[in-house]
Amino acid sequence: MEEYVKLWKSLGLDLDSHEVLLNTLSEFYEKIFLSQPKRPKGMKYFDFVISEVHGLRIKELYDARKEGKVVVGAFCVYVPEELIYALDGICVGLCAGAEIGYEEAEKYIPRNTCALIKAFMGFKLAGVCPYIECCNIIVGETTCDGKKKAYETFNQITNGKVYVLEVPHTKSKEAFELFLKEVYKFKDKLEELSGKKLTLEALKKGVAIANAKRKALSRLEKLRAFDPVPISGLDALLIEQIAFYDDPVRFAEKVNLLCDELENMVKNKQGVVSKNTPRILISGCPFALPNWKLHHLVETSGAIVVGEESCVGKRYYNELTDDSFSSVEEGIEKIAIRYLKTHCACFTPNNERLDDIKNMFKTLKADGIIHYSLQFCTPYMFEAYKLERDIEVPYLKLETDYSLEDIGQLKTRIEAFIETLKE
Ligand code: SF4
Ligand code: SF4
Repeated sequence: MEEYVKLWKSLGLDLDSHEVLLNTLSEFYEKIFLSQPKRPKGMKYFDFVISEVHGLRIKELYDARKEGKVVVGAFCVYVPEELIYALDGICVGLCAGAEIGYEEAEKYIPRNTCALIKAFMGFKLAGVCPYIECCNIIVGETTCDGKKKAYETFNQITNGKVYVLEVPHTKSKEAFELFLKEVYKFKDKLEELSGKKLTLEALKKGVAIANAKRKALSRLEKLRAFDPVPISGLDALLIEQIAFYDDPVRFAEKVNLLCDELENMVKNKQGVVSKNTPRILISGCPFALPNWKLHHLVETSGAIVVGEESCVGKRYYNELTDDSFSSVEEGIEKIAIRYLKTHCACFTPNNERLDDIKNMFKTLKADGIIHYSLQFCTPYMFEAYKLERDIEVPYLKLETDYSLEDIGQLKTRIEAFIETLKE
């Protein structure tokens, strides 16, 4: 612990606020995760990762930087991590899922900004995020208006660490050309920072690492389709969150080991809840760590979450990059194609997202959908109304944030929705 304290100090963290964060996190974790009955043994690794999320992993990042590796921070699933791995870099997620540093954040950004943006600003301003401090570069993508404008301020408060990656808002041919150029520019930036040149062999390696991680997550998703479900939604969500922090090769290995165990449970007809427990698909905004609020509410109200149509979820691992390329140029094009198959509400039109949700609903044998929008998230709030008109299955739309103030009201609505699924 002493070694970590030294490390946090050298990264410029506010040690008192940081300690409060770690204590609160561990208290919540014990209450929400460790109290779950019948957890698979393979979850021990992920418990360990959480217990070391500001310790061992930060030490790894710190040591990697000392060895000259580039640490890239990202907020969005449109950042092509294949290129980062290809150039021996490390990619970490910087989205934050707790109400910290809001008062400070509101001196820089409007009060009615979504919780995710306010939280990443707040984490930096409160001095509690060692990940932000470990990064050489932070990629701010041009998706929603809130993020685009927040990155201007974030660049100032991180002393110019933000690099802007332009993500188009339509799926036209011209938009693809623009994004392809952006992927090339990002490659150039990574080459400059790492002092390495992207080769075909390295690109193949980068694509293989990212694909293996996504395949492992897809394998986990498929196991959630069984009844009884062998893993809780909370544990599956935790794994999807850890996907943005852990070493990708180690992570894929551990997810596959867990899946071996879950496959055995399925064979033996074992589950974490009884057969015929109402099954919920959650769709909407991302769940940044440690935002476990909605899953916890659903799973303490007599239902189980079987999937996340979310960036911390299916939108992250849905598509693989086609690895059948024989030049760097062809590989980069395949990467650009892969990323523009992600259907974020920031795009217009974005009808494919409805198809994705319908497919997930069917394959995961869900009984109902809960649409989750963070308050003030215009893109997902708009799509929530559209889905309500078009989805034709039991559907509940919720708007919330990271506070605990609306827990009672949300629980009442969720319980009433789950009751209708039993009828
Ligand atoms: S919801 Fe959209 S903007 Fe947010 S992380 Fe996902 S793709 Fe990026
Ligand atoms: S949740 Fe919505 S408003 Fe917040 S960052 Fe994501 S897209 Fe933007």
